[in-house]
Amino acid sequence: MAPDSQNVGPEMRFAGASLTIDLEALKANYAGLAQVCAPSITAGVVKADAYGLGIDRVAPALADAGCTRFFVALPEEGAALRRAVPDATIYVLNGLFSEESGSLYLEDRLIPVLNSPVDVRLWETFCGVSGDRLPCAINVDTGMNRLGMTVEEALAFAEENALTQAIDPVLVMSHLACADEQTHPMNRRQLESFQQVTAAFPSIESSLVNSAGILLGAEYHGSVTRPGIAVYGGAILPGTANPMRVVVTAEARVAQIRHARAGETVSYGATQTLARDTIIAVAAIGYADGYPRAGSATGVALRQTNRPAGHGSIQGQRVPILGRITMDLTMFDVTDLGPNMVAKGDFIELFGPNLPIDEAAAAAGTISYELLTSLGRRYHRRYVESGR
Ligand SMILES: *Cc1c(COP(=O)(O)O)cnc(C)c1O
Repeated sequence: MAPDSQNVGPEMRFAGASLTIDLEALKANYAGLAQVCAPSITAGVVKADAYGLGIDRVAPALADAGCTRFFVALPEEGAALRRAVPDATIYVLNGLFSEESGSLYLEDRLIPVLNSPVDVRLWETFCGVSGDRLPCAINVDTGMNRLGMTVEEALAFAEENALTQAIDPVLVMSHLACADEQTHPMNRRQLESFQQVTAAFPSIESSLVNSAGILLGAEYHGSVTRPGIAVYGGAILPGTANPMRVVVTAEARVAQIRHARAGETVSYGATQTLARDTIIAVAAIGYADGYPRAGSATGVALRQTNRPAGHGSIQGQRVPILGRITMDLTMFDVTDLGPNMVAKGDFIELFGPNLPIDEAAAAAGTISYELLTSLGRRYHRRYVESGR
């Protein structure tokens, strides 16, 4: 492949910030999880443009690592995924919004996740019209109160469809509410409800767990697991060592170096007064790039809590954010590195190998998932295969 086709977004020389996406690390993370889950099959969750990293690049890399089943949220995502992985099995989690949406499922061989008896009727009608018994997945809500039919509705459907054979369920699934709190009693309760349902669908695949749920053990795995964030390098369990390899590195370019005096203030609202003479690196990154304003050092609601404020990393050192993060620019305190150590054109890491994404997210009162799926369009994106 020509080097240029590895790059997406504005050219590096014009971009304020860059994302490096390590597809080798992504594949290694997938393979590691697949090994833990075997003999269960490990699917890839690539909703929201593969957690913001680009479904057209991420999905083929996962397929390359042996992934054959994928989950997206919406049919349009499924259509994009179909172009990237022509042979994969594709499930659409949010299911059928209307009967008219059925044609897209047919065209791109997408499998709807049916979340209610209403969805079942829609798919039955669509199958009746198209003259085909088309595959579908059945989602059961076992305690999340998000999407899915009740256990009773699922059992009734199993009985009825065994007689009518109107549609072809190929997967039964549910989703855990508290998988990242491994000792939460909800996990076992949901497992037991789910087992009631899987017993009524004995010959089809079953799927219960996301990344964190995998760590609950084989009993929870069913025949298909659904890790997302762990594949992308996020921590599986908050507050514990992260065994996954870093996939994403975000860096921002220093647009200007300033020398400010003690007593001066920084950024909107003049909410931060400098306690010392300060060297400020002004970096071309802001909330328009999905760098959350809540990570500001001062002057935003979150900073009235005790959470540690946000920072960047450069030359192996942590550099704190100063004042409010603005739309396109963020100020970092680089005084401690010493004079003339940071220059215009240098890059400050926002998260990556030196600053875990979960830490950067926590500083802004959010989670790695939200940081990734909020990444804007202004990054120069570089996909590397080489590993680090
Ligand atoms: C997003 C999602 C997943 C993946 O969850 P992670 O926590 O990222 O591993 C799995 N299943 C469902 C239903 C989801 O919505």
